[in-house]
Amino acid sequence: MRAELEPLLKLQEIDLKIKDLEAKKAEAPKRLEALRCNLAAREAELAQLTAELSEIKKRKIDIEDELEIETGRLNKSQQKLSSIKTNREYQALLKEIEEIKKANKTREDEIVATMEELEKINISIKEKEAEINAMQKEVEVENLHLNQVENEINGQLYTMMEQRDAIAKDARQDLLSRYNFLRDKRGGVVIVSVTGAVCNGCHMNLPPQLFNELLRDEKIHYCPTCQRLIYAKTNDKNGD
Ligand SMILES: [Zn+2]
Repeated sequence: MRAELEPLLKLQEIDLKIKDLEAKKAEAPKRLEALRCNLAAREAELAQLTAELSEIKKRKIDIEDELEIETGRLNKSQQKLSSIKTNREYQALLKEIEEIKKANKTREDEIVATMEELEKINISIKEKEAEINAMQKEVEVENLHLNQVENEINGQLYTMMEQRDAIAKDARQDLLSRYNFLRDKRGGVVIVSVTGAVCNGCHMNLPPQLFNELLRDEKIHYCPTCQRLIYAKTNDKNGD
C-alpha cells in the first residue's frame, strides 16, 4: 500500500516547493515598495523646502519694498529740513528722520538675514534633489530586478505545475481528493510517516491495533487524530 502513496508523496514535495515559491513571489515586491515609500517621503520634504523658499523670497521682497518707500520718505524729510522755520518743528523733523533711519537699519539687517536663509535653503534643496535623484535610480534598478525575479519564479512555477499535473494523473483519485481536501488545512503536509506508533504530523500516539495494521501494510490508513495519510517509517532505501 505504501506504493500507492508514492505519487502523492512526490506531489506533496512539489506542492511544498510551489508554496515556497509563491511566498517568495509575494515577498519579492516588498523592497521596491519600501524604496518607493521612502522616495515619496523625500519628495514631500523637497516640496516643503520649496514652499519655505518661496515664503522667504516673498518676505525679502516685502522688506525691500518697504525700505524703498521709507528711503524716499527719508530723502523728502531731509530736503524739508532746510526750509523749516521754528526750532520746535526742526527738532520734531530731526527726530522723525532718526526714527526712519533706525527702522531702515533694521530692514537692511533683515534683508541680509533672509539672504542667508535663502542660501541655506538653496543648499538643502540641492542636497534633497540629489538624494531624490539617487533614489529614483535605485527604484528603477530594483524595478528591473523585481521583473527578473518574478519572471524566474513564474517560470519555475510553470514547470512545477506541469510536473504536478503529470504526477496527479498517476495518483489514486480517492487519495488525491483527500490530499487536496486536507492540504490547506494541514499546512501542505498530508502524507506523513509514523515512527514508533507516533504520527509525525500531529505527534499523537496511534492505537496499538492501528499501528499493527499499518506495519502489515495491507491498506491505506489515516491518523485518527489529524486525518493525515500515514505510512510506517522503514529503514529501507525508500524510508524517510
Ligand atoms: Zn496525526
